Amino acid sequence: MNYNKRNPTFSFRVEYNDRIKLDKLAKIDKISTNEFARKIITMYLKNELIKNTEDLQKEKIKLQIEKLKAEIKYAQIKNTYFENFNQPMSRRAEIQIKPQIIEQKQVFQNPQSPYDASNKRLQCIDCGSLFCWYSESEFNSQLAEFQRHLVAKHDRAKTEIEREVLIDLKYEGDSR
Ligand SMILES: [Zn+2]
Repeated sequence: MNYNKRNPTFSFRVEYNDRIKLDKLAKIDKISTNEFARKIITMYLKNELIKNTEDLQKEKIKLQIEKLKAEIKYAQIKNTYFENFNQPMSRRAEIQIKPQIIEQKQVFQNPQSPYDASNKRLQCIDCGSLFCWYSESEFNSQLAEFQRHLVAKHDRAKTEIEREVLIDLKYEGDSR
């Protein structure tokens, strides 16, 4: 068997947004997008791709339900107050009982997220190692460093949440 037969080429079209995402992921791994796509397919065929987006989805739904429950409770308290005192609750009291509805992306709030938004830094969820940056270029190298750490120190692939964080995370300033 010659080289071409042993290593056939493969090409296909993908959706624009998928391409953008693939480019980003490949950049993180410091390989070409083509090479990255090849890696995914190879991993899938070797059964090395883990599907855990389903768990994340369940977690999101759970949080949405909790948020709704809190909002219903808030409305109930306001109604009861009105019924009992025949006047609406003061603005100040309303603010006090209003549930803290956080609109930030859930992925950064997940306890499994390695990103510490208040200090603008990454922390390994396995060993607690910190990855800080004091410039935008350092931010980029720390993202790569963090991923190298997972492989070198813990010999594991990124979790779904770590992956999402690395894709979505943008330089917002230096670490504290
Ligand atoms: Zn670690």
